Amino acid sequence: MIIVMKKNATEEQTENVIKWIESVGYKTHLSPGVEQTIIGAVGDNRGKEHLKFVESLSGVEKTIPILKPYKLASREVKEGNTVIRAGNIEIGGPEFIVIAGPCSIESAEQMMESAFIVKKGGANIIRGGAFKPRTSPYSFQGMEEEGLKLLRRAGDKTGMPIITEVLNTSDVDLVEEYTDILQIGARNVQNFALLKKVGKAKKPVLLKRGMMTTIEELLMSAEYILSSGNDDVILCERGIRTFETATRNTLDLSAVPVLNELTHLPVIVDPSHAAGHWKYILPLTKGALAVGADGVMIEVHPEPEKAVSDGMQSLKPERFYDLMEEIRKLEKLIRTEMKVTA
Ligand code: PEP
Ligand code: MN
Repeated sequence: MIIVMKKNATEEQTENVIKWIESVGYKTHLSPGVEQTIIGAVGDNRGKEHLKFVESLSGVEKTIPILKPYKLASREVKEGNTVIRAGNIEIGGPEFIVIAGPCSIESAEQMMESAFIVKKGGANIIRGGAFKPRTSPYSFQGMEEEGLKLLRRAGDKTGMPIITEVLNTSDVDLVEEYTDILQIGARNVQNFALLKKVGKAKKPVLLKRGMMTTIEELLMSAEYILSSGNDDVILCERGIRTFETATRNTLDLSAVPVLNELTHLPVIVDPSHAAGHWKYILPLTKGALAVGADGVMIEVHPEPEKAVSDGMQSLKPERFYDLMEEIRKLEKLIRTEMKVTA
């Protein structure tokens, strides 16, 4: 339920309303507006009958039910966009954010080299997998903590924030110690125990859409993280399974404007895992920018032919530099154009 406070409501009245809502078993989410303060009351239905009486408290103008099944993720609760900070980078702000790096962290040299390549190209955040979700148990599973250390060092040396995936609830504390952003991969999008656990973390979470999750299910997964106390969730479209086999997955670019309509959370696109081939990364990145994504996540490797995972979809350094040049040009063009038409 959304509680709209009167224009002249005092801080004390707002505080009283919050206390009262919490006393009947709901969590509150405060959105102090310029004109009016809005309080979101979120919880299961057990206190519903009690909650109705909030209308009689002083300072309350009206109550509106939240119609969407996801509450905290919804624009009904928060109209403005959420901007998430990682180091000195803002995701969801005016800049189109590029997260880049290898699929897997393979060695000290490979990680450091990758980090300097993505920095040189003008990326904002470095990626690298230390815990790898692989289809085959015989495939490389990741360097685990050793890899986290290498990624951390690469982040510190370049002065860039880092992101890496966590697969298990038991590893969340460890991964959080090293990384600036926690990634929940496509295969774990409905691992509810893991979502609740990263919801307790103090670092932002990038949540990838699963291969078979609907947009609403993705938002419900985000809701698990938000309702566990972590406000900093970034959504990521990374391709879904369809009948098409020409690409690894089918990039659902329409998810971007749909999500932008439904949620205040930032939305990024991963063209690498969607397409599965390096040659489609540039056009799909342009598409992501044009449809209103807040950024992209791209796999880059110093020598893709030697990569232990996802070599085919990884960009060589030169190709990455070319992509960045084109994307920054297009970004400028779109932003200038938008200013002109605004
Ligand atoms: C990844 O980003 O390393 C990854 C495994 O991606 P996804 O979860 O989208 O398959
Ligand atoms: Mn990969």
